[in-house]
Amino acid sequence: YTAKQRRDGAVVYDAVFDQSSAKSLSLLTELRNAVERDELRLFVQPKITLASGVVSGAEALVRWAHPERGNVFPDQFIPFAEQTGFIRVLTRWVLEQSAMLSRQLAQRGVHLKISVNLSTRDLMDQDLPGKFAEILHRHQVSPGAFCLEITESAIMDDPVRAQHTLERLHAMGADLSIDDFGTGYSSLAYLKRLPVDELKIDKSFVLNMEQDVGDAKIVRSTIDLGHNMGLRVVAEGLESEAVWALLKRMGCDQGQGYFMSRPIPATELGDWIGRWRAPDSAAAASRVEEN
Ligand code: C2E
Ligand code: MG
Ligand code: MG
Ligand code: MG
Repeated sequence: YTAKQRRDGAVVYDAVFDQSSAKSLSLLTELRNAVERDELRLFVQPKITLASGVVSGAEALVRWAHPERGNVFPDQFIPFAEQTGFIRVLTRWVLEQSAMLSRQLAQRGVHLKISVNLSTRDLMDQDLPGKFAEILHRHQVSPGAFCLEITESAIMDDPVRAQHTLERLHAMGADLSIDDFGTGYSSLAYLKRLPVDELKIDKSFVLNMEQDVGDAKIVRSTIDLGHNMGLRVVAEGLESEAVWALLKRMGCDQGQGYFMSRPIPATELGDWIGRWRAPDSAAAASRVEEN
């Protein structure tokens, strides 16, 4: 069963933490403690509307400030959290922190959509929509301030239950986004069936699209596909001004990537927005034409 194999993060987990069951148990204990000891950090990466240069949202990306290992990246503990079911605790933590961030920004007059990543286990969690509603209510944030990102493999595990959860979340008013679009298996079937608002083109197609003609064609076709289906299209992995100009010319709605900002601590987002200036895309575009 491919979807199970794909989400089985053993390989990723192996790279940093030992796979023996004793070590797994201690990692689970460490993860549990991480929440209580306040070692998780909410990082965010801005999403920019390419046509206007306006900051339209930010994706919440979790980091673990580990006392010995330093800043641990999500690839090294999210798959493990998924396997053990701890992801439910983690997702709630991220939703809670994101709601607090949204509220703080709104008080400064900044209105953004915060994107939160959901995993397979979250989609199987019948309590998630209720928990989401409770968090929103407690922090006085509307569901429309959220965009929930899901991957195709997360849906494939149990499409019926996933669809049910996603429909409930969408009915509340949250946006839904298909993350890493193009890397899964049956993208198009889900696009048709699910209440999706946004497509996020995987960074593997975006990173070198100004050099790789094949990548550029895939990106262009995905933008057209998304628009034909009435969806907002976002490119992740936007690392250069040349790619900014290309995506803008192709009509891609939003971009996210190191060219604008790496993920930064959530506490720094307000100031970052104050400093942000969009590049002069006309100049960038003519440089691309010259090459
Ligand atoms: P993702 O949701 O596809 O997030 C985008 C990843 O691409 C992030 O990696 C981000 O730092 C990276 N990225 C953004 N722009 C660029 C760029 O221009 N160049 C390059 N090379 N990379 C870029 P990160 O933060 O390491 O997260 C990795 C994955 O871990 C995420 O992929 C997501 O699937 C998962 N993840 C992160 N936070 C959470 C979370 O709170 N919950 C869940 N369930 N998953 C999470
Ligand atoms: Mg994402
Ligand atoms: Mg992504
Ligand atoms: Mg990705």
